[in-house]
Amino acid sequence: MKITNTKIYDTVKEVVGEDSLKVVEFLKDKKNISDFKIAEKVNADIHDIRNILYRLYNHNLVSYYRKKDRQKGWYISYWTFNKKRIKDLMKNLHYSKIDKFTERLQVEEANRGNFYLCPNACVRVNFEKATDFEFKCPECGVILNHQDNGKTIEFLQGKIKELHATNGFAKMGHGFAAAGNGFGNGHSIVGNGHSNGNGHKINSVTRSNKVVRKATKAKSSKKK
Ligand SMILES: [Zn+2]
Repeated sequence: MKITNTKIYDTVKEVVGEDSLKVVEFLKDKKNISDFKIAEKVNADIHDIRNILYRLYNHNLVSYYRKKDRQKGWYISYWTFNKKRIKDLMKNLHYSKIDKFTERLQVEEANRGNFYLCPNACVRVNFEKATDFEFKCPECGVILNHQDNGKTIEFLQGKIKELHATNGFAKMGHGFAAAGNGFGNGHSIVGNGHSNGNGHKINSVTRSNKVVRKATKAKSSKKK
């Protein structure tokens, strides 16, 4: 498998966080760069850079050594990006996605036809909870809609099948990012852009959900 820049950035972003991308972008094809130099080149505070570097280090994405600067008398650390580690992390992410989707599927199947959703997407609860709330959203007070989660179940089953089929490495383009974030609300993803015929107004839900919006975007760009 070729480790493309897209794979590097997608993985690092997911594992370490978006703020680390600037450091990885700068460091990925270089060796033994001092933290001061990194801070200077990416135009960021040295303390922020060290924080990012140690987070990367916690995932074995960088290695470093320290050397005493004879003139200044203090230690300087020199950092190298560990590109090989990306493959392992991708594999880990792949399996943790399967676990998450499977867990989510179990919840959906255990509550088939039994979900209630705020039209403003504040809450999504099962029948018992909905009864406790007297079918009103505890956040905004709007009446909860019954939601058929059949499409969600199909979506999750499809995702799990797809993940098993790719084995984490084939077809890892946009689908990779979509799989990573899509589990937040599978129903909305399915509902958006497909006429599922169940009459639920779920587009507003999709838009209000940042995670889903991202996944939907990734999904639609995949189709093109
Ligand atoms: Zn609400």
